Amino acid sequence: MKPYLRSIKAKWTLQDYPDNTTYEAGYLISKNAGWRSIRPVIDTKKCSGCLQCYLHCPDGVISKRDGAVAIDYDFCKGCGICKRICKLKAIEMEAESK
Ligand code: SF4
Ligand code: SF4
Repeated sequence: MKPYLRSIKAKWTLQDYPDNTTYEAGYLISKNAGWRSIRPVIDTKKCSGCLQCYLHCPDGVISKRDGAVAIDYDFCKGCGICKRICKLKAIEMEAESK
């Protein structure tokens, strides 16, 4: 019987994950087509830089640049998972300006 995925102990640490966004790593090739209606905005005063949002972003578009956590809006789809995962409530979803 195969083990449950949750019982497999991950040995990766944060340092093992790539620094770059998936776009920069070459995995995303087309920018979003403008259908996103809300976007995540990080409050840098609240953000601790824990990178939990980066680990959970399904598109891998969050990264740390010059010591600050940044979102690549060219590829963010506005799903809001990063907001849900941030325990410090440092991310708010704001309406896109059309
Ligand atoms: S999860 Fe929140 S506190 Fe952690 S890096 Fe992301 S925005 Fe900052
Ligand atoms: S809204 Fe979704 S796609 Fe955009 S940065 Fe947050 S988790 Fe990633």
